[in-house]
Amino acid sequence: MISAPDLELTRAALATSTLSHGLKVFGDRWTVQVMLSAFLGVRRFDELQSFSNIPRPTLSDRLRSLVQIGVLKPRLYQDKPARYEYHLTRKGLGLYDATLMVWAWEKKWGNRALALPQTLHHTPCGHSFSPVLTCLACCEKVTMKDLKYTLVPNARLQHEPLEGLRTPRMSGRETAEMSLGLRVDRWSLLVLTAVVLGCHYFDQITHVLGIGPNVLSRRLSGMVEAHLLHCETDVNDARRRLYRLTPSSRDLFGYIVCLSNWAGESHLHEPSSIRPRHPSCKHNFSPRVACDHCQQTLNPWDVSFTVTQGSTA
Ligand SMILES: [Zn+2]
Ligand SMILES: [Zn+2]
Repeated sequence: MISAPDLELTRAALATSTLSHGLKVFGDRWTVQVMLSAFLGVRRFDELQSFSNIPRPTLSDRLRSLVQIGVLKPRLYQDKPARYEYHLTRKGLGLYDATLMVWAWEKKWGNRALALPQTLHHTPCGHSFSPVLTCLACCEKVTMKDLKYTLVPNARLQHEPLEGLRTPRMSGRETAEMSLGLRVDRWSLLVLTAVVLGCHYFDQITHVLGIGPNVLSRRLSGMVEAHLLHCETDVNDARRRLYRLTPSSRDLFGYIVCLSNWAGESHLHEPSSIRPRHPSCKHNFSPRVACDHCQQTLNPWDVSFTVTQGSTA
Protein backbone atom coordinates (compact mmCIF):
# COMPACT_ATOMS: atom_id res chain seq x y z
CA MET A 1 0.00 0.00 0.00
CA ILE A 2 1.40 3.40 -0.94
CA SER A 3 0.68 6.30 1.39
CA ALA A 4 -0.85 9.31 -0.32
CA PRO A 5 1.49 12.25 -0.88
CA ASP A 6 0.44 15.80 0.00
CA LEU A 7 -0.38 16.87 -3.56
CA GLU A 8 -0.56 20.64 -2.99
CA LEU A 9 2.73 20.67 -1.15
CA THR A 10 4.38 18.46 -3.77
CA ARG A 11 3.08 20.66 -6.57
CA ALA A 12 4.41 23.82 -4.92
CA ALA A 13 7.75 22.18 -4.16
CA LEU A 14 8.20 20.90 -7.70
CA ALA A 15 7.26 24.23 -9.24
CA THR A 16 9.82 26.08 -7.10
CA SER A 17 12.52 23.43 -7.15
CA THR A 18 16.08 24.14 -8.17
CA LEU A 19 15.75 21.00 -10.28
CA SER A 20 13.01 22.51 -12.40
CA HIS A 21 15.09 25.67 -12.89
CA GLY A 22 18.26 23.68 -13.47
CA LEU A 23 16.55 21.56 -16.08
CA LYS A 24 15.48 24.67 -17.89
CA VAL A 25 19.16 25.16 -18.59
CA PHE A 26 20.29 21.51 -18.80
CA GLY A 27 17.15 19.75 -19.78
CA ASP A 28 18.01 18.54 -23.23
CA ARG A 29 20.48 16.01 -24.41
CA TRP A 30 22.34 18.30 -26.79
CA THR A 31 23.23 20.66 -23.96
CA VAL A 32 24.35 17.69 -21.90
CA GLN A 33 26.44 16.51 -24.87
CA VAL A 34 28.12 19.91 -25.27
CA MET A 35 29.02 19.98 -21.57
CA LEU A 36 30.29 16.42 -21.69
CA SER A 37 32.45 17.32 -24.68
CA ALA A 38 33.75 20.43 -22.90
CA PHE A 39 34.92 18.24 -20.01
CA LEU A 40 36.66 16.01 -22.54
CA GLY A 41 38.55 19.02 -23.86
CA VAL A 42 36.64 19.32 -27.13
CA ARG A 43 36.48 23.10 -27.46
CA ARG A 44 36.18 24.27 -31.05
CA PHE A 45 32.96 24.51 -32.99
CA ASP A 46 33.97 22.14 -35.79
CA GLU A 47 35.47 19.64 -33.37
CA LEU A 48 32.35 19.74 -31.26
CA GLN A 49 30.23 19.33 -34.33
CA SER A 50 32.06 16.33 -35.69
CA PHE A 51 32.60 14.77 -32.26
CA SER A 52 28.96 14.96 -31.25
CA ASN A 53 27.10 15.01 -34.53
CA ILE A 54 25.00 17.92 -33.35
CA PRO A 55 23.24 19.82 -36.15
CA ARG A 56 25.15 23.08 -36.65
CA PRO A 57 22.30 25.50 -35.85
CA THR A 58 21.49 23.50 -32.70
CA LEU A 59 25.14 23.63 -31.65
CA SER A 60 25.32 27.43 -32.18
CA ASP A 61 22.18 27.85 -30.19
CA ARG A 62 23.34 25.67 -27.28
CA LEU A 63 26.78 27.33 -27.15
CA ARG A 64 25.17 30.76 -27.10
CA SER A 65 22.95 29.90 -24.15
CA LEU A 66 25.76 28.16 -22.25
CA VAL A 67 27.89 31.30 -22.65
CA GLN A 68 24.94 33.43 -21.62
CA ILE A 69 24.42 31.60 -18.34
CA GLY A 70 28.15 31.69 -17.67
CA VAL A 71 29.20 28.04 -17.79
CA LEU A 72 31.29 28.43 -20.95
CA LYS A 73 33.54 31.31 -21.94
CA PRO A 74 34.54 31.94 -25.56
CA ARG A 75 38.22 32.62 -26.29
CA LEU A 76 39.43 33.83 -29.64
CA TYR A 77 42.02 31.48 -31.15
CA GLN A 78 42.04 32.77 -34.70
CA ASP A 79 41.58 36.33 -35.96
CA LYS A 80 40.50 36.12 -39.57
CA PRO A 81 37.94 34.79 -39.75
CA ALA A 82 37.22 35.01 -36.02
CA ARG A 83 37.11 31.56 -34.41
CA TYR A 84 36.48 30.73 -30.79
CA GLU A 85 37.23 27.98 -28.36
CA TYR A 86 34.75 27.37 -25.57
CA HIS A 87 36.27 26.93 -22.14
CA LEU A 88 34.55 25.89 -18.93
CA THR A 89 34.23 28.63 -16.35
CA ARG A 90 34.30 28.04 -12.61
CA LYS A 91 30.52 27.82 -12.68
CA GLY A 92 30.75 25.33 -15.52
CA LEU A 93 33.28 23.20 -13.66
CA GLY A 94 30.65 22.85 -10.93
CA LEU A 95 28.70 20.67 -13.35
CA TYR A 96 31.35 17.98 -13.31
CA ASP A 97 29.50 15.75 -10.83
CA ALA A 98 26.29 15.93 -12.83
CA THR A 99 28.23 15.22 -16.03
CA LEU A 100 29.92 12.18 -14.48
CA MET A 101 26.50 10.90 -13.46
CA VAL A 102 25.32 11.24 -17.06
CA TRP A 103 28.40 9.33 -18.19
CA ALA A 104 27.69 6.52 -15.71
CA TRP A 105 24.05 6.33 -16.75
CA GLU A 106 24.71 6.42 -20.47
CA LYS A 107 27.40 3.79 -20.15
CA LYS A 108 25.03 1.44 -18.34
CA TRP A 109 21.69 2.21 -19.96
CA GLY A 110 22.18 4.46 -22.95
CA ASN A 111 22.24 3.45 -26.57
CA ARG A 112 25.43 5.21 -27.51
CA ALA A 113 23.61 8.20 -28.87
CA LEU A 114 25.93 10.45 -26.89
CA ALA A 115 29.59 10.53 -27.79
CA LEU A 116 31.20 9.07 -24.68
CA PRO A 117 34.64 8.02 -23.58
CA GLN A 118 34.64 4.29 -22.87
CA THR A 119 36.88 4.39 -19.85
CA LEU A 120 37.65 6.96 -17.18
CA HIS A 121 40.99 6.79 -15.44
CA HIS A 122 41.67 8.30 -12.01
CA THR A 123 45.25 9.57 -11.94
CA PRO A 124 45.69 9.84 -8.12
CA CYS A 125 44.81 6.17 -7.52
CA GLY A 126 45.92 4.90 -10.91
CA HIS A 127 42.76 2.92 -11.67
CA SER A 128 39.93 2.90 -14.16
CA PHE A 129 36.80 3.75 -12.31
CA SER A 130 33.09 4.35 -12.31
CA PRO A 131 31.80 7.47 -10.60
CA VAL A 132 29.54 6.76 -7.64
CA LEU A 133 27.17 8.98 -5.71
CA THR A 134 28.09 9.43 -2.07
CA CYS A 135 26.98 11.62 0.83
CA LEU A 136 29.17 14.67 1.40
CA ALA A 137 28.72 14.45 5.17
CA CYS A 138 29.56 10.77 5.76
CA CYS A 139 31.13 9.74 2.40
CA GLU A 140 28.95 6.60 2.26
CA LYS A 141 27.62 5.42 -1.08
CA VAL A 142 24.00 6.53 -1.49
CA THR A 143 21.10 5.52 -3.70
CA MET A 144 17.64 7.01 -3.96
CA LYS A 145 16.26 4.60 -1.38
CA ASP A 146 18.69 5.76 1.30
CA LEU A 147 17.25 9.29 1.48
CA LYS A 148 14.17 10.95 2.94
CA TYR A 149 12.75 14.21 1.62
CA THR A 150 11.35 17.31 3.24
CA LEU A 151 9.44 19.68 0.99
CA VAL A 152 9.81 23.40 1.65
CA PRO A 153 8.47 25.44 -1.28
CA ASN A 154 10.72 28.42 -1.94
CA ALA A 155 8.63 31.52 -2.65
CA ARG A 156 11.58 33.31 -4.26
CA LEU A 157 11.69 30.72 -7.01
CA GLN A 158 7.99 30.85 -7.62
CA HIS A 159 8.00 32.39 -11.08
CA GLU A 160 8.29 29.06 -12.69
CA PRO A 161 4.80 27.83 -13.41
CA LEU A 162 5.12 24.33 -14.75
CA GLU A 163 2.07 25.00 -16.86
CA GLY A 164 4.25 27.30 -18.90
CA LEU A 165 6.56 24.41 -19.62
CA ARG A 166 5.83 23.73 -23.23
CA THR A 167 6.17 20.28 -24.60
CA PRO A 168 8.23 20.45 -27.72
CA ARG A 169 6.21 19.04 -30.56
CA MET A 170 7.63 15.61 -31.11
CA SER A 171 8.56 14.61 -34.60
CA GLY A 172 8.59 10.98 -35.65
CA ARG A 173 12.34 10.94 -35.24
CA GLU A 174 12.16 12.22 -31.68
CA THR A 175 9.58 9.63 -30.76
CA ALA A 176 11.94 6.99 -32.10
CA GLU A 177 14.78 8.43 -30.02
CA MET A 178 12.60 8.23 -26.99
CA SER A 179 12.01 4.55 -27.55
CA LEU A 180 15.76 4.05 -27.60
CA GLY A 181 15.81 4.76 -23.91
CA LEU A 182 18.02 7.82 -23.94
CA ARG A 183 15.42 10.47 -23.51
CA VAL A 184 16.86 12.27 -20.53
CA ASP A 185 14.98 15.49 -21.02
CA ARG A 186 13.36 17.98 -18.70
CA TRP A 187 9.90 16.47 -18.77
CA SER A 188 11.01 12.93 -18.14
CA LEU A 189 13.17 13.99 -15.22
CA LEU A 190 10.36 16.01 -13.66
CA VAL A 191 7.96 13.09 -14.06
CA LEU A 192 10.52 10.80 -12.42
CA THR A 193 10.96 13.25 -9.56
CA ALA A 194 7.20 13.33 -9.01
CA VAL A 195 7.27 9.52 -8.77
CA VAL A 196 10.24 9.67 -6.37
CA LEU A 197 8.14 11.99 -4.18
CA GLY A 198 5.39 9.40 -4.02
CA CYS A 199 3.07 10.33 -6.89
CA HIS A 200 2.42 7.01 -8.57
CA TYR A 201 -0.97 7.55 -10.20
CA PHE A 202 -1.83 9.37 -13.37
CA ASP A 203 -4.11 11.89 -11.64
CA GLN A 204 -1.46 12.62 -9.01
CA ILE A 205 1.28 13.21 -11.58
CA THR A 206 -0.91 15.42 -13.76
CA HIS A 207 -1.82 17.46 -10.69
CA VAL A 208 1.64 17.98 -9.24
CA LEU A 209 3.26 18.78 -12.57
CA GLY A 210 0.33 20.78 -13.93
CA ILE A 211 0.54 18.91 -17.23
CA GLY A 212 -2.60 18.38 -19.26
CA PRO A 213 -3.80 14.75 -19.37
CA ASN A 214 -3.22 14.30 -23.10
CA VAL A 215 0.35 15.51 -23.00
CA LEU A 216 1.07 13.52 -19.85
CA SER A 217 -0.45 10.40 -21.32
CA ARG A 218 1.83 10.61 -24.36
CA ARG A 219 4.82 11.29 -22.16
CA LEU A 220 4.11 8.41 -19.82
CA SER A 221 3.64 5.88 -22.56
CA GLY A 222 6.88 7.04 -24.16
CA MET A 223 8.66 6.63 -20.84
CA VAL A 224 7.18 3.16 -20.34
CA GLU A 225 8.34 2.23 -23.82
CA ALA A 226 11.82 3.58 -23.02
CA HIS A 227 11.87 1.47 -19.82
CA LEU A 228 12.04 4.58 -17.64
CA LEU A 229 8.73 3.73 -15.97
CA HIS A 230 6.97 0.52 -15.18
CA CYS A 231 3.19 0.60 -15.46
CA GLU A 232 0.96 -1.85 -13.62
CA THR A 233 -2.71 -2.15 -12.74
CA ASP A 234 -3.47 -1.18 -9.16
CA VAL A 235 -4.43 -4.32 -7.22
CA ASN A 236 -7.00 -2.32 -5.24
CA ASP A 237 -8.65 -0.65 -8.19
CA ALA A 238 -8.36 -2.20 -11.64
CA ARG A 239 -9.29 1.12 -13.30
CA ARG A 240 -6.20 2.82 -11.95
CA ARG A 241 -2.72 2.36 -13.25
CA LEU A 242 0.29 2.61 -11.07
CA TYR A 243 3.65 3.98 -12.28
CA ARG A 244 6.87 2.85 -10.72
CA LEU A 245 10.52 3.57 -11.31
CA THR A 246 12.64 1.02 -13.13
CA PRO A 247 16.30 0.15 -12.48
CA SER A 248 17.33 2.56 -15.25
CA SER A 249 15.26 5.48 -13.99
CA ARG A 250 16.43 4.85 -10.41
CA ASP A 251 19.95 5.26 -11.74
CA LEU A 252 19.07 8.73 -13.06
CA PHE A 253 18.77 9.88 -9.48
CA GLY A 254 22.48 10.76 -9.31
CA TYR A 255 22.09 13.17 -12.21
CA ILE A 256 18.89 14.65 -10.81
CA VAL A 257 20.38 15.31 -7.38
CA CYS A 258 23.72 16.66 -8.68
CA LEU A 259 22.04 18.98 -11.17
CA SER A 260 19.58 20.19 -8.58
CA ASN A 261 22.42 20.85 -6.13
CA TRP A 262 24.44 22.75 -8.73
CA ALA A 263 21.43 24.84 -9.74
CA GLY A 264 20.79 25.81 -6.12
CA GLU A 265 24.40 26.56 -5.19
CA SER A 266 25.92 28.01 -8.34
CA HIS A 267 23.11 29.17 -10.59
CA LEU A 268 20.21 30.41 -8.47
CA HIS A 269 21.90 30.82 -5.08
CA GLU A 270 18.75 29.55 -3.42
CA PRO A 271 18.03 26.43 -1.36
CA SER A 272 16.04 23.73 -3.11
CA SER A 273 12.43 23.20 -2.18
CA ILE A 274 13.12 19.46 -2.24
CA ARG A 275 15.52 18.76 0.63
CA PRO A 276 17.00 15.31 0.92
CA ARG A 277 18.20 13.96 4.26
CA HIS A 278 20.46 11.01 4.89
CA PRO A 279 18.92 9.27 7.92
CA SER A 280 21.85 6.91 8.42
CA CYS A 281 24.25 9.79 9.22
CA LYS A 282 21.50 12.21 10.34
CA HIS A 283 22.74 14.99 8.03
CA ASN A 284 21.09 16.92 5.26
CA PHE A 285 22.18 15.28 2.06
CA SER A 286 24.54 16.95 -0.37
CA PRO A 287 25.91 14.91 -3.24
CA ARG A 288 29.57 14.08 -3.65
CA VAL A 289 30.70 12.02 -6.62
CA ALA A 290 33.57 9.70 -5.87
CA CYS A 291 35.87 7.18 -7.52
CA ASP A 292 34.53 3.67 -6.83
CA HIS A 293 38.07 2.42 -6.49
CA CYS A 294 39.68 4.81 -3.97
CA GLN A 295 36.52 6.61 -2.75
CA GLN A 296 38.13 10.02 -3.27
CA THR A 297 36.23 13.03 -4.64
CA LEU A 298 36.69 13.40 -8.40
CA ASN A 299 38.16 16.53 -9.98
CA PRO A 300 38.21 17.09 -13.74
CA TRP A 301 41.99 17.59 -13.74
CA ASP A 302 42.51 14.20 -12.05
CA VAL A 303 40.61 12.21 -14.66
CA SER A 304 41.85 11.04 -18.04
CA PHE A 305 39.89 8.99 -20.51
CA THR A 306 40.02 6.99 -23.66
CA VAL A 307 37.63 7.48 -26.51
CA THR A 308 37.38 4.37 -28.61
CA GLN A 309 37.11 4.99 -32.31
CA GLY A 310 33.54 4.56 -33.44
CA SER A 311 32.00 5.35 -30.07
CA THR A 312 30.56 8.52 -31.54
CA ALA A 313 27.62 6.64 -32.99
ZN1 LIG B 1 25.48 10.71 5.09
ZN1 LIG C 1 40.47 6.61 -7.56
